[in-house]
Amino acid sequence: MARLILVVEDEPNLREALVDSLVADGFRVVAAADGREALARFRADGPDLILLDLMLPELSGIEVCRIIRAESGVPIVMLTAKDSELDKVVGLELGADDYVTKPFSLRELSARIRALFRRSDQAVAVELPQAVVDLGPIQADLGGRRLLRDGEVVPIKPKAFELLAFLIRHPGQVFTRDQLLEQVWGYDYGGETRTVDVHVHWLRGLIETDSGHPAFIHTVRGVGYVFRRPT
Ligand code: CA
Repeated sequence: MARLILVVEDEPNLREALVDSLVADGFRVVAAADGREALARFRADGPDLILLDLMLPELSGIEVCRIIRAESGVPIVMLTAKDSELDKVVGLELGADDYVTKPFSLRELSARIRALFRRSDQAVAVELPQAVVDLGPIQADLGGRRLLRDGEVVPIKPKAFELLAFLIRHPGQVFTRDQLLEQVWGYDYGGETRTVDVHVHWLRGLIETDSGHPAFIHTVRGVGYVFRRPT
């Protein structure tokens, strides 16, 4: 089935133009005119990608992005009239995957959307032996970048999930905190290796039955961490 895109834009003409253009590109499309409607549509329809205007009535795009990110790893492209570095940083920090500044061409937007889908397809094809990894009572949906318990989504911080996904993809390999910072955070974190410990602590609280005796994420004293599947 064609992919479903949620278009969140309060300006009616632009919203219609976006919907028409995406439908012409072969996507299925649902639309929302404000932040609250956006959350309702997101939860009801489970879109594969979200185009999210920054300046919205009811709830701002920033708020919507933050709330959706706490629940899902769905790709989000922020749309905004502002071209300040600050907004860009805020949007990307909140977990938006890409950023388009108005006025933009529909052709450019379409190219960005295809690139995002390509990237997520490749991630699934190359890195995932299986999309959903069973961790006992918890399932890690690596493709959907979400954690499930009995089919219900468990809230998890995006970086904590990325760390978990990285460890799952490298079972039995011991990583130092610096290596994990570089692999998951992707930049030199200035020696703040405590960040890794804090995220591991969160993860254990979510996936381990007994955090004091972890079954999955093990501490290797003096080195770092390793993910093992219980035998
Ligand atoms: Ca707007």
